[in-house]
Amino acid sequence: MLGTVYLVGAGPGNPDLITVRGLECLRRAQVVVYDRLVSRSLLAETAPESELIYVGKEGGGFHTLPQAAISQLLVDKARAGLTVCRLKGGDPFVFGRGGEEAIALRRAGIPFEVVPGVTAGVGVPTFAGIPLTHRGMASTVVFVTGHEAAELRSGTDWAGLAASSATLVCYMGLGRLAEVRDELLRYGRPADTPAAVIHWGTRAEQRVVIGTLDDLPERARELAQPAIVVIGQVVDLREVMDWAEQRPLFGRRVLLPAPLEEPAEAAAELAMAVRDRGGEPWVFPRRPEAPAWREVELLRQELSTGGIHLAVVTSPSAAHFLFHTLGESASLLHEVPFLCKTPETAAALARYDVRVQVAGDLGGLLGDSALLNGLAAGGRR
Ligand code: SAH
Repeated sequence: MLGTVYLVGAGPGNPDLITVRGLECLRRAQVVVYDRLVSRSLLAETAPESELIYVGKEGGGFHTLPQAAISQLLVDKARAGLTVCRLKGGDPFVFGRGGEEAIALRRAGIPFEVVPGVTAGVGVPTFAGIPLTHRGMASTVVFVTGHEAAELRSGTDWAGLAASSATLVCYMGLGRLAEVRDELLRYGRPADTPAAVIHWGTRAEQRVVIGTLDDLPERARELAQPAIVVIGQVVDLREVMDWAEQRPLFGRRVLLPAPLEEPAEAAAELAMAVRDRGGEPWVFPRRPEAPAWREVELLRQELSTGGIHLAVVTSPSAAHFLFHTLGESASLLHEVPFLCKTPETAAALARYDVRVQVAGDLGGLLGDSALLNGLAAGGRR
């Protein structure tokens, strides 16, 4: 029997932004084929016995595996009778080459389903407080790619875009930002048009740089891919609409160890508190069973790239569980500030030689920016 391939949009980076259907497909897949923009946190949702295959699409358009080989891989796995989740950043059909994969599957007679995702061009500006349309300001939005110089000349009507007041959303545009600007200025878009570059939007790593069409390439020099460029009057609205970056836990991925003997609801409640304050919770483990090797490895990777910015530990057993499970990799936790509720937990943590702050009222503390900033001062942030 043929397996089914699910082409799933993972959303723009924040793991909460995958759809309900997308998460369901990801959790039950036997094979998961993913690319670079997919967060580790989502990979931790895969079934422990599933096969994970990285096909490394780089933001600049370079692929470790050629597109034809990726399509062939999906066909082969489905022919072997396996359920496949092809997990792609954003939406599969927006600058994601999902169309090519769908054509290959159709030609091979493989059943497939496409699960839409929040595309970066929509989700990322929203998290930067920039609405793409606004009454009286912009009633047209155009998604373009700044991917290749050749495309700049051929595929895209820059003269038309320059003449309109449409909001321009440019994917893969950072490397070609100066060329995009020159092209728009050449055809008459005003040099003082507000513009923004948003790096890793919706994730804890989100960074925003604001400028004008004219000076943005200069200002955004320090930002790296992946980034979305937004050009248009609506960028000015960020001043009143910036909502995500104002929240106390913005920019923090928060580790929440949840030992098996404690009720899962407690971890879920804490995760919600973190989310409500703008943080990105990382509950460990994801399932009410001992964490499989993969989940431990994903956490280890996240720690070693500085991706965990705070840990909240609710009991001595949670402390022991975390350090024992990580084994040798537990040394990576020394960079992370810890928060806990009671002196007993603090004493348990002290054995592992980490920086701890005790807070009887965790909820209150997680909402206190000044305290959180003080905590993080000695860490990597
Ligand atoms: N299919 C994807 C786009 C893939 S092209 C989608 O629908 O979003 C890859 C480009 O998307 C990157 O070069 C960058 O321009 C943009 N991108 C994806 N995720 C992003 C994020 N979190 N922040 C900023 N840009 C992002």
